[in-house]
Amino acid sequence: MWATTRTGVTNEVLDTAALISWPIVRLNGCYVIPSQRIELCRIYPEKEIKIDSAELIWIEPDKKSLQSATNLAIETGDMAGLSEIDLGILALSIHLKKTLVTDDYRLQNLAEKASIDWIAVTTDGITEIWNWELKCIACKKISPQPEKPNLKKADWGRCEDCGSELKLKKMK
Ligand SMILES: [Zn+2]
Repeated sequence: MWATTRTGVTNEVLDTAALISWPIVRLNGCYVIPSQRIELCRIYPEKEIKIDSAELIWIEPDKKSLQSATNLAIETGDMAGLSEIDLGILALSIHLKKTLVTDDYRLQNLAEKASIDWIAVTTDGITEIWNWELKCIACKKISPQPEKPNLKKADWGRCEDCGSELKLKKMK
């Protein structure tokens, strides 16, 4: 089921886009991870009061869920495009078996894979599951997925054969 409309169910796990755009009453009782607060206050300091006014539940995913999320992300090839926070909120959804609210198509993809319900914040969301591979732009060699989220966005290193740049490509 593609859950792209609100059903009145509360207590979802929220991504940062939902934290920013949803009204306070809608945030009450929802789940978030502590590192989201740090990120949000750094990028949108004016949102700090709003976030602190909402009755959010700040919780870390357990190790087992984090491992499941990691395994799934390596399997689909999404890991190379994820941040720590992305992986954390996916793991929290798996841990709590709660709906994930996200506009990130990688997270939507992974939620589908994990059989976790998801809803989009502002967009329509994905309509199929995608798999990704890290491909050399020159010799086309496929590199293995990283085992951890990227610290730098879109920096996937170099091809170990020819030293050219790697790109994340959708598998056909
Ligand atoms: Zn190469």
